[in-house]
Amino acid sequence: MTIRSFPVLHSDELLFSGVARYFDHMDFPNRSASTRELFGARTYKPILDFPSHLDSFTSQLLRNCGYPTTDQIIDEHTLFPLFAPFLPPDRLERLRKAMHEDAGREARLRAGIMSSRIPLIRELRLCTKCVRADRQEFGEAYWHRSHQIQEMKVCHTHEIPLQKMKNDFVGEEYISAEQALKISEWDESKPNKNDIEKFSNLAIDAHWLLDNPQNQITPRMLYKRYFELLDRGGFVQKYSSKLSLNKLSEKFQEYYSNSYLESLHCDLKNHVPSNWLVRLMESSGNDVQHPLHHLLVIRFLGESAETFFQKIYRKKLKGSEEFHSSSYVSTIQLNKKNLFTYPDGKSDQCPAKQAANRNQHWIQQTDGLKTTVKNQ
Ligand SMILES: [Zn+2]
Repeated sequence: MTIRSFPVLHSDELLFSGVARYFDHMDFPNRSASTRELFGARTYKPILDFPSHLDSFTSQLLRNCGYPTTDQIIDEHTLFPLFAPFLPPDRLERLRKAMHEDAGREARLRAGIMSSRIPLIRELRLCTKCVRADRQEFGEAYWHRSHQIQEMKVCHTHEIPLQKMKNDFVGEEYISAEQALKISEWDESKPNKNDIEKFSNLAIDAHWLLDNPQNQITPRMLYKRYFELLDRGGFVQKYSSKLSLNKLSEKFQEYYSNSYLESLHCDLKNHVPSNWLVRLMESSGNDVQHPLHHLLVIRFLGESAETFFQKIYRKKLKGSEEFHSSSYVSTIQLNKKNLFTYPDGKSDQCPAKQAANRNQHWIQQTDGLKTTVKNQ
């Protein structure tokens, strides 16, 4: 099967969302059969965070039309970049490989998402202000990946509580945001008002990581930076250079409050002495922990995700052979470009776009040197 008119994936949109919009536009009578065909699998359940069979999917996209590669989908339309800086390189490689291939369960195991105490997402979420803005800009709403992170309660852009679909999302079928807005009832996340700033910081940090993949970070670089900040915070014993883990757990709970940590399923209570914070610090990266744990630690140590990782980058620029500035820059640049772009002058040759234009569903938008097909 060749897919001729797969929709443009928007910035911060999950692949799940793009597939759901594709099904809406094509109006297939049997979505389960179409799903199996789309991903070349005998059985395939929609997955929000780490979809697999992506090579099979991208091989069916019409060639030379600027459709994304498998790696572009992984980096820009799944939760992979949120987990990437906190996984050992071999595990990260196997996670990416599992997503390329037909190993959906292995992908989620590699990410560590199945063994975490933080529950898996059961319901899809959206921000009402994002819905309004997306409808204005693209003509329809879509599922933002930044909103579908476990325990995310506010929108990183508008800093308002997210709305959750009342019926559980159990991964049975693709549903677009527009369809869900028509048929579903919604619950508002109810973050404690005193904690809104902390929830916003978490959302901003998670979104920054999704938007700025840190594929070059190794556990050694990560933990070196942690140690510097812990030393600055007075958590490193002067003569032995050991971490004061009890003091760290104590101050961490004081900073966040137990109720806030409990609301994220990240509390330390009843887990002393071996709570997740202690294990995270002692493991030097061998004990895989959820990205939310790392983001909480980074803020506690006085940094945002952006400043934390940029300082690693700046230090490495001063002469390490394991880190190349061009890799960092290209990662950022890769992320900033729209996936469905065409070299100037070639966009009219794309049958997918021609077909789409005939249906007047897509418009062409020229922006500088690139021509982009956008939903109208
Ligand atoms: Zn929003």
